Amino acid sequence: HAKNCGKNNAKLYSSSLTMQIMSHVKLEVGLRKALQNNELYLLYQPQVDVPSARIVGVEALVRWRHPEHGVIPPNEFIPLAEETGLIVPIGEWVLRTACQQARAWHSQFGQAVRMAVNLSARQFKDENLAQTVLAVLQETGLDPSLLELELTEGTLMDNALATLATLEQLRGVGVLLSIDDFGTGYSSMSYLKRFDVRALKIDKSFISGLPQDSENAAITRAIIAMAHGLKMVVVAEGVETREQLDLLKHYGCDMAQGYHLGRPAAQDAISQMLGNVGSGAAAV
Ligand code: C2E
Ligand code: MG
Ligand code: MG
Ligand code: MG
Repeated sequence: HAKNCGKNNAKLYSSSLTMQIMSHVKLEVGLRKALQNNELYLLYQPQVDVPSARIVGVEALVRWRHPEHGVIPPNEFIPLAEETGLIVPIGEWVLRTACQQARAWHSQFGQAVRMAVNLSARQFKDENLAQTVLAVLQETGLDPSLLELELTEGTLMDNALATLATLEQLRGVGVLLSIDDFGTGYSSMSYLKRFDVRALKIDKSFISGLPQDSENAAITRAIIAMAHGLKMVVVAEGVETREQLDLLKHYGCDMAQGYHLGRPAAQDAISQMLGNVGSGAAAV
């Protein structure tokens, strides 16, 4: 518990630090210009198939290179982007950039690299979301089954009817869905089944205490058992040690993501990983 508190405090502190330097208004004005000034960029974090240790996908994670304040992490500007609605154009830029990259890797290495993109609840309120996704896929030529949209339990359960309609449209487009930060929110199992979710991503707060923390171990095993029972795949987030990876392998966890397997990295570093080992790079 003490460890978790420390982490949360650190997060609050760093975010309030940015806020101290920049007023809310200044941050907003800056964010409005960030897109047109090319200040946003993506990092990609490997997602590894646990049994084979191969990179089968990446998650796109946005960064903002502020001209005066340096690199600002998403936790410090995505909430503002959501509040202001700027997340809609920013999210579309993320989606397009990520799909272009996945398409480029596919033709460069002949290897299907699945691209995971985070979506905010606010983006699901945009009734054009499915059309935007379809347009981006057509424009970039990426196979829809190589695009995975990550949403949280909150997004899934919030405004369920509108979300259901959008998710059904997205299913029609042929993209994959996964639930991010699973276990930290509230979701109904019947929804997970109904929405045809491919994967559950176990939140990193459950993984960080492994292998010592027996309660988190129990939660992790229960999520894996439930997901497999519902024919879903499980991804462990925040895998930082070899011991954690070994334990997850023992539990039958399908995929893993975390600093032990690869930090979020620029496109050329990922290209190198994919290129090094030919088709299907081994991560560890
Ligand atoms: P997320 O989707 O759950 O992404 C995983 C976060 O955990 C990333 O933080 C990643 O850098 C971090 N991480 C990965 N491995 C480890 C590990 O082993 N240990 C620890 N302690 N952390 C690890 P990041 O990049 O700062 O992103 C934070 C959140 O911001 C994301 O959480 C996601 O919710 C949001 N986000 C990032 N990019 C986008 C985006 O393009 N659109 C939207 N809507 N949200 C985004
Ligand atoms: Mg995510
Ligand atoms: Mg998240
Ligand atoms: Mg997460």
